[in-house]
Amino acid sequence: MRVLITGGAGFLGSHLCDRFLAEGHSVIAMDNLITGNTRNIAHLAGNPNFYFIRHDVTNYIYIAGPVDAVLHFASPASPIDYLKLPIQTLKVGALGTHNALGLALNKGAKFLLASTSEVYGDPLVHPQKEDYPGNVDPIGPRGVYDEAKRFAEAITMAYHRYHGVDTRIVRIFNTYGPRMRLADGRVVPNFIAQALRGEPLTVYGDGSQTRSFQYMSDLIEGIYRLLLSNYNEPVNIGNPVEMTILQFAETVNAVTGNNAGIVFKDERIKGDPQVRQPDISRAREILNWEPKVQLREGLEPTIAYFREVL
Ligand code: UDP
Repeated sequence: MRVLITGGAGFLGSHLCDRFLAEGHSVIAMDNLITGNTRNIAHLAGNPNFYFIRHDVTNYIYIAGPVDAVLHFASPASPIDYLKLPIQTLKVGALGTHNALGLALNKGAKFLLASTSEVYGDPLVHPQKEDYPGNVDPIGPRGVYDEAKRFAEAITMAYHRYHGVDTRIVRIFNTYGPRMRLADGRVVPNFIAQALRGEPLTVYGDGSQTRSFQYMSDLIEGIYRLLLSNYNEPVNIGNPVEMTILQFAETVNAVTGNNAGIVFKDERIKGDPQVRQPDISRAREILNWEPKVQLREGLEPTIAYFREVL
């Protein structure tokens, strides 16, 4: 296959580039580098099967020659980023998805949308199954991301139903690993950076809110299987092992040997989900997929990466 990966210089996009190249495909990575970084794909320079195009996908996308699959991963993805880049976040989810779908239609390519557990908002159903329509405040600070991704899912299904494009939607739950941006403001890079600097970890609120953390290699495997499947409805991909943010902070301090402890800060963004855990029965059934990497196992290479970046 010849695949286009938008957001190809980002955390997940760059790991997807690696995976598709390793499977013998040819990859075009596209990124405007507002949150992505060419450092993430520098090791691919000179690979004859890899091309990088610096382009903002909210503008018309032109690719010469055949394209077999479009994976749309371009978007700011951390709450701090989308608070800083609200218009860009809305535009890449809406206009960017429209352009990427238009390209897929034009090329007769499969299309895979990177969606998110944020479509469930601050969920009133727990754990979250794909048929739960969510609890999102459209005008809240997280609305710019949540509603953009909800629109992106809607237009993806419309292109599937109206134009017959062979589409996929992956709803990605909290994922961590090497190449996350140190300063993206998310809990994993924040805590690891703080721990490596010997500082106390900043737990927002009382730390009773929960998340379920998945290592990136599990996600990449799920996405690869989803693309090769023939399933058009959304599929959750995440690790169902749920913990409080306070427990996560204690784990990071234990694994890094940080003795500086924890400080509580009143910095929860309005609408910060109180609980989040994927129900992955659909992925188990359709993709025969489940996560393999335990938290402590995945933290090791992640911490090693941040140590190098620091
Ligand atoms: N959080 C925290 N300390 C930090 C950064 C985040 O306690 O330094 C909390 C945040 O309030 C949220 C959770 O960790 O409840 C996960 O936040 P993140 O920004 O990683 O992404 P989210 O899952 O909310 O999209």
